[in-house]
Amino acid sequence: MDNNINAYNSILDLVGNTPLIKLNRITEGLTGNFYAKVEAFNPGHSAKDRIAVHIIEQAEQKGLLNADSTIIETTSGNTGFSLAMASMVKGYKCILAVSSKSSPDKIDMLRSMGAEVYVCPAHVAADDPRSYYEVAKRLHKETPGSIYINQYFNELNIEAHYNTTGPEIWKQTNGNITHLVSCSGTGGTISGTARFLKEQNPDIKVLAVDAYGSVLKKYHETGEFDHEEIYPYRIEGLGKNLIPKATDFNSIDRYIKVTDAESAHMARKIAHSEGMFVGYTSGAAMQATIQYNTEGEFDKNSNVVLIFPDHGSRYMSKIYSDEWMQNQGFFDAKNAESPKEIQY
Ligand code: PMP
Repeated sequence: MDNNINAYNSILDLVGNTPLIKLNRITEGLTGNFYAKVEAFNPGHSAKDRIAVHIIEQAEQKGLLNADSTIIETTSGNTGFSLAMASMVKGYKCILAVSSKSSPDKIDMLRSMGAEVYVCPAHVAADDPRSYYEVAKRLHKETPGSIYINQYFNELNIEAHYNTTGPEIWKQTNGNITHLVSCSGTGGTISGTARFLKEQNPDIKVLAVDAYGSVLKKYHETGEFDHEEIYPYRIEGLGKNLIPKATDFNSIDRYIKVTDAESAHMARKIAHSEGMFVGYTSGAAMQATIQYNTEGEFDKNSNVVLIFPDHGSRYMSKIYSDEWMQNQGFFDAKNAESPKEIQY
């Protein structure tokens, strides 16, 4: 510390070392002990801070970046925010191609953090020139001195979690973790964390959360890419319409699919029961855990760690808006006439 002042050198020093917090009430009726790794405690409010810092710093070490460099990425929002934050601190320009499915608050936040944002249609094929992948690739080609983060196909995404999330959980549970429940989008979080944990104890069960409308579960089970599995869904950041290279399918024991409606209600219930204001996919992870519990796979000695990827503030115009929930028909699933009838 300079001048004997107790301060961090920059906000990036606060990435990682997120707390593990016991879940006390939402787990009523479940067998075992349940803990959430709450990634909203990262300074950019999501797990993606870890990969943003790691990938940029690896590029710096390889000499790929200079003062005028541009960081380019496709993103559902969280990775973009983390990259924009890291680029701002380190002095790089940041260009992001995002899906039109991303919440408007997320897009505004990216722009607030100084990023240049291109909004691309969500429901086109990945190889369509309008898709956010193709737009990002084109911008990378057209921008000299840029690097393309390419989180779905970048091994460093896995490495970031192998180096940090995995060891943190191992230490926080004193090696007593029995199950990991993590959403699978790029697959970086689950693959890196699982790889580290299984190296310590191969008996740890790794459960991946997938969305209805995504190909991941079927691919894991059959090795087949089934186009029939693909259709639009609401949850952002979970599941995929392609097979990401950043997913190590061998590190995953089981995929569990969750619905848009149940995941949304579960996120709201986490806020109401645990006082944790978390994002849509945290609800998905909790929902998957409850579904898995019905199979009798947990016992009283199970120590289950769920990764809660981001903060609820990113979903004010979505799952935390009664109007949005009603428009999706998500209250119908609960047989409620109005939001006021829902008791979490
Ligand atoms: N939840 C949210 C909110 C996300 O943005 C992401 C990233 N796409 C995930 C979960 C999944 O994490 P990963 O990409 O590491 O599989």
